[in-house]
Amino acid sequence: MSDDRTTVQDLRAIVAEFVSARDWEQFHNPKDLAAAIAVEAAELQALFLWRSADDAASLALAGGMRMAMKEELADVIILCLSLANAAGVDVSSVVRQKVEANGAKYPVELSRGSAAKYTELRDGGE
Ligand SMILES: [Mg+2]
Repeated sequence: MSDDRTTVQDLRAIVAEFVSARDWEQFHNPKDLAAAIAVEAAELQALFLWRSADDAASLALAGGMRMAMKEELADVIILCLSLANAAGVDVSSVVRQKVEANGAKYPVELSRGSAAKYTELRDGGE
């Protein structure tokens, strides 16, 4: 199973089957899934806490830290897919819509190479 051969629906079905087999739909409600996503995102952040950006990037590419990062990333993605399942959200549509909206907020000609928030781009400052 790899990204080039797997659809979002395939992944959603795997997550739904896992949840259903354990009768966990009762726990996988939007409120608790949103909280669980934040918890797992914090576990992901904790792996790199207090390290420089360069060190974190190196650790993400190789070794035991890479495996831990992949597992925490998977936890976040699994819970996001479960939230999409529980709330009936079409992931492909909402991601495409959000990227388009972000493109309007961050036009290439104003945001390229800049980390400024969109509210600061049109003022010419960062
Ligand atoms: Mg975790």
